[in-house]
Formats: sequence, C-alpha cells, structure tokens
Amino acid sequence: MSYSQLDRPVQFLKGVGPKRAEAFVRMGILTARDLLYHVPRRYDDASTVTPIGRLDIGMDATAVGRVRSKGVIPTRRGLRIFQAVLEDDSGMITAAWPGQPWLDRKLREGDVLLVTGPVKFFHGRQIQPREVTVVARASEAEAEGGVEAEQRGRIYVTYPASEELPQWVLRSVFERNLDALLGWADDDEYLGREGLARRGLPSLSQALTRLHRPERIQQAEEGRRRLAFDELFFLQLVQAQARRRATELEPGIAHVRTNELIRPLHEALPFALTGAQTRALREIYADMTAPARMNRLLQGDVGSGKTVVALFAMLLAAEGGHQSALMAPTEILAEQHARRMRELLGPVGVEIALVTGSMTAPARRAALEGLASGATKLVVGTHALIQEGIAFRSLGLVVVDEQHRFGVRQRMALLERKDVRPDVLVMSATPIPRSLALALYGDLDLSVLDELPPGRTPVETQLCRRDDRKRIYELVRREVEAGRQAYVVYPLVAESEKVDLLAATDEFERLRDDVFAGRRVGLLHGQLATADKDRVMRAFVAGEIDVLVTTTVIEVGIDVANASVMLVEHAERFGLAQLHQLRGRVGRGKDKGYCILVADAGDAAYERLDTFRKTTDGFEVAKADLRIRGQGDLFGSQQHGTDPVLRFADLLTDEDLLVEAQREARALIAADPELVNAEHVRVLAQLTGRYRERLEMYGVG
Ligand code: ADP
Ligand code: MG
Repeated sequence: MSYSQLDRPVQFLKGVGPKRAEAFVRMGILTARDLLYHVPRRYDDASTVTPIGRLDIGMDATAVGRVRSKGVIPTRRGLRIFQAVLEDDSGMITAAWPGQPWLDRKLREGDVLLVTGPVKFFHGRQIQPREVTVVARASEAEAEGGVEAEQRGRIYVTYPASEELPQWVLRSVFERNLDALLGWADDDEYLGREGLARRGLPSLSQALTRLHRPERIQQAEEGRRRLAFDELFFLQLVQAQARRRATELEPGIAHVRTNELIRPLHEALPFALTGAQTRALREIYADMTAPARMNRLLQGDVGSGKTVVALFAMLLAAEGGHQSALMAPTEILAEQHARRMRELLGPVGVEIALVTGSMTAPARRAALEGLASGATKLVVGTHALIQEGIAFRSLGLVVVDEQHRFGVRQRMALLERKDVRPDVLVMSATPIPRSLALALYGDLDLSVLDELPPGRTPVETQLCRRDDRKRIYELVRREVEAGRQAYVVYPLVAESEKVDLLAATDEFERLRDDVFAGRRVGLLHGQLATADKDRVMRAFVAGEIDVLVTTTVIEVGIDVANASVMLVEHAERFGLAQLHQLRGRVGRGKDKGYCILVADAGDAAYERLDTFRKTTDGFEVAKADLRIRGQGDLFGSQQHGTDPVLRFADLLTDEDLLVEAQREARALIAADPELVNAEHVRVLAQLTGRYRERLEMYGVG
C-alpha cells in the first residue's frame, strides 16, 4: 500500500507535542488520519445560537460570548455560585453555575464560551448553562479577533473532547492542521470521479471539509453520508468475500432428497406448517440439494416455529446419508431442543443424540463414537460441538441457534474449518429490521418466518410499579387456580451475581411460604448443577410446578404451552429484545398469556417499557431497542472502545445506503473476487489497510 501523510503519527502535527500526542492516543487517535476523521459531534449556527442581546427570560437557548469578568459568590445558604459575565456584539448577560465553584479555575477572562441552558430572572437576566464549552482560549480569541471572528457567519462545531483534550485544544489543533489534513484526504479516495457522480456522493476531501467546516449545517449531513457509505461498503465487501469463500470457492454438498424421512414427519406432525414455514423450507431444500454450499439465515420471532423447519432440514441431510448437528448457545437450550425434537421424531423412528459437557465420560465417549462411525445421523449440542473439532463421519448440515446473540465469530470459525464443509443454517430469534439483517448477516441469504402458527392470542402486557404487586399476585393466583403455570423472573447482572442470587433466593422463599403458600413453587438458576436444573425444568414441563422462580434469561428456553404468566421483576434492567424473548415464553398454547413488567424505575425507563407494552410486533420492539441502546451492542460482546464498527452509518436511517453498498460490494466481488484488477487497487488498499483491521476486531472480517 502506498504511504500517505495520513499514516504519520499525530505527533508530527503542529501544536501536538509528546504529551498531547499521548492524550490523543488515549482517545484512540494515533495517526493524522484518525484526527481527520475525528469529526464534530455537534453543530450550532445562527438558527440555534441566539445573540446575547436577544436572550429572553423563559427561553432555553444557546449563546456564544467572551468572558468579561468572573468570580465565585457565596450565598447565605452556603451554596457557592460561579458567575461569569458573557459578552458579544449585541450585549452582555450573567451566566451562573450554582454549586460549581471549581469552574473558576477552569475558565479565564477572555475565553470564548458556548453555553446552553435556561434564561431566568435573577437580578436581571441570567443564563444557567447545562452545558458549557470553551470554544477558544483567551490568548487565541484575541489573536483571532475574539467573539467577532467567532460570529462571522460561522457554524460552531463541537468535537468529542476529553478532560485532557478539551474543546479549545482540539479546535486549536484543527485550526493549525486542518488545511493540510484535508489536502491529504483524497489519498484514500477509492471512487473515481465517475463513480462519485454516479452515486451522488462528494469526494473524501469534500465530505470531510463539509464535516469540519460546513457553511450550512446540512452540509455536515452530506459529508456524513459519504463516510457512512464507505463504512457500509467495506463491511459488505468483507462479507461478500466471506460469502464467496464459504459458498462458491469450493463446492459444498448436493444433498439427495428421497422423502423417506421427510414424508413420515409431515404425516406425524400434529399441525400443518404455516405458509412461512413452507416457503422457508422450499428455500432451504433448494440450497441444500444444489452443489453450492448453503449459508442461510432463518429469522423468525419467538414461537414462529423455527425448530420444526430445522428438523426437516436435518432429515433431508439424513436422507442423503449425511449427518447434521444443531448447536445451541447453552446446554439447557440444547437439552430442550433435543427433547422437543425427540418428541416430534418419535413416530418417524429416527434417533437424535445429545452431546453436552456435563455428560459422564462413558456416555460422551459412546456419543462421539456414534458421530465418528456415522451411526448417529442427528446430534444436538452446544457450540463446542464444532469448536472442539469433534470428528464426524460425514457432516452435511450445521444448524446454529443463535437466539438473540450474534455469533459472528463462531460462524466464521465454522466456515473456516477445512476438514468439513457442511451447509449452514443460522437461526435467529431476534426479529431484526431488514437493514440490520443485511449489515450483520450480509454474508448470508435470508429466509423469514413472518407468520405465527394459527390460534395464538396476543399476549397482554402490563406495566406496574412495585407497590402494585398485590394485584399482580392476585392475577397469578387466579391463573394457577385455573390450572395454568407462571414464571417469575429476576435479572442477573454479572457484577453482582451473588447479591442478585441472594435476592432471588429470598424472594423465592417469600413467594413459596407466603404469597403462593399451598402452591408448588420451584427455583431455577444458573448456579444449580445441570442435573438439578434439568430436574426443575422437567418438573415444570410436566406441570408439577405451578410457579417457577428463575434468575436466568436465556435459559428459560423452555416451551411450556400451559404457562400463561410471565412476571418480570426489575424489568428496567432488561433490554427490550430480552423482554420480547421472555414474553414469547407465554401465550404459546390456546390460553391467553400475560406479561407483567414490574419496574421501580425512573420515568425514562418507565417510558421505554411503556413503548414495549404497546406493541407485540417483534420488529417494532427491535427498532425501539436499537433506537434506545444504539447499535453498538448488536455486534456482540467484543464491542468496546470508542471505535465501533459503524461510526458514521446509522442503521435505522441509512437503509438506502446499506442496500446500495451491499449491491455494489457483491457486484464488485463477483467481477473481481480478489480485487486484483488495476482499477480496484485503491479499494484493495483501503480494505487491507484501515478497514480490515477495524472489521477484524469485531470478528466480522
Ligand atoms: P421458535 O423456535 O421459532 O421459537 P418453535 O419451533 O419452538 O418456535 O415453535 C413454537 C411452538 O409452536 C412449538 O410448540 C411448536 O411445536 C409449535 N409449532 C411450530 N409450528 C407450528 C405450526 N405450523 N402450527 C402449530 N404449531 C406449531
Ligand atoms: Mg448444498
């Protein structure tokens, strides 16, 4: 890759000595390029900044002014207030920060401040800033002509700053280096003039100029879209390459369908498949019988019937003489899958093996022998099934049940194994929006179960405060009286697992001995031995427990059609997607289901939960969750630091860009898989340079 000035360390920039360079590194800014892409997080212009002379009592406003004088005033009640008089061309105003006397040491006379807050009456007009930014230090403000220069039709930009690198330092570093940085920006340009024009995008130097120095705020948005396109394009490019390696480069298995197992299962099923299930199966069968390798995502809300679909696919593999493995994220889920599949398979006469870490050594050895010899055709286990390199006679299909996790890494590990090349079917219970599915699973084809089996009444969701629980217990008692069952779920937070567990255990005793005295109350949590967990779950499944108190979330992957109440304590501590999973555990039978969220939360959390209460549509829940949590979390647990995979793209609003990026990435990889064409040399340089590293960090590359 050709060397660019942008690759040089920040320290060589003007105004950046060794000490500041270290502070930049701590902020994740190592090179000139990193600094160039450190773009403002906020823009203010005349439409948002009010001249000081026009600040009126009752307004909530943003103003820019120079500190004329300042000081700390004590009040009679002992509160110390920092005050500064701010001035611009149009007038002066007092700004007051009650209880923040330390600001006196931070701010100097002559500093130019950008403040936002309410304007109140207090010995005249007074602004009480919630936010304050030093946009220029005293000496620099003078050198540049002060507030007047700041105001000359300018847009105020605010950079993401830190204690060590405050706003005014960043601004002064940019002031001195931005021209040079922008001059090098097009070193990274991989789209030709024609390519830019066709997509209606600005060049990199134009985009970054608009972000750092917009003439109108709208320009910053145009710049952002360009950078968002780049991110999405390279993300899709990596995935298109992975997809090609996985599906096209080497042949997969052309499975042979005889119907000798599929037909008996159809005949034995106690229900007819939904239209969506039938469609998904048609797509899966087509992929599996084709010689290319299948790499498909089966996406469907909780209860949409993915397991049955997976089972048919596994039978198809068996018909042609191949083995198939279903991998679940936890042992309990694996056991649950095995149990359910065994029930369905009973009449068909096909066995299914279960391999878990907690098996006895002889049982495990026997199971592994069955896999190695080929005697065992269907197996269920955890991800360890593949990761530990267990030997199969002829592994033809792997089904990955990801629930609502995104196991990009596991999936890649699977695709990279050279000894086996099974077809891959990924099941996801999170009804993610299409845009997200594209971004997260851009390497996969997509089948969607968008239809629930008939006869289900939507679950009624209620939200209540803790002191309102009497009424809720009444409802649980009524349901139990009528012969139905209930879950009571407590959150488990990793850091305080012990404390939480204690709480749940205490609560369990209270519920058993007091609230639901005379009823059969069971306790299930992650720290029980597997055998005990299994015993409790079996008892619940068999209807021998009326109320199941549990601390676990993912492990409540049990399917009890008779359960009608899901009571979630401390609901504010769960994500909406998690709550949706929990809610999906009731209302699976013919009876009406209730999901009751008990929250002792501030209003923000209450509002979030209320959003959830109002919709049963998993896609809506997923969108709301995304909006609230941000997209960072979705890329899995490796997510950390200030550099998420997507810094500029917003999956909720940039769907059009994403679709286009995917189309272009796939077309490019189809035409020039390894990007060896001379005209793609810059794309390759970007991909192997800055993007590869970033994407690999998250297990995407
Ligand atoms: P998912 O894995 O998508 O959450 P499951 O496969 O566990 O859903 O199915 C949920 C429940 O619905 C199971 O009890 C299953 O037997 C049942 N089921 C699946 N498909 C149908 C169908 N077409 N009609 C009726 N019930 C179905
Ligand atoms: Mg195939």
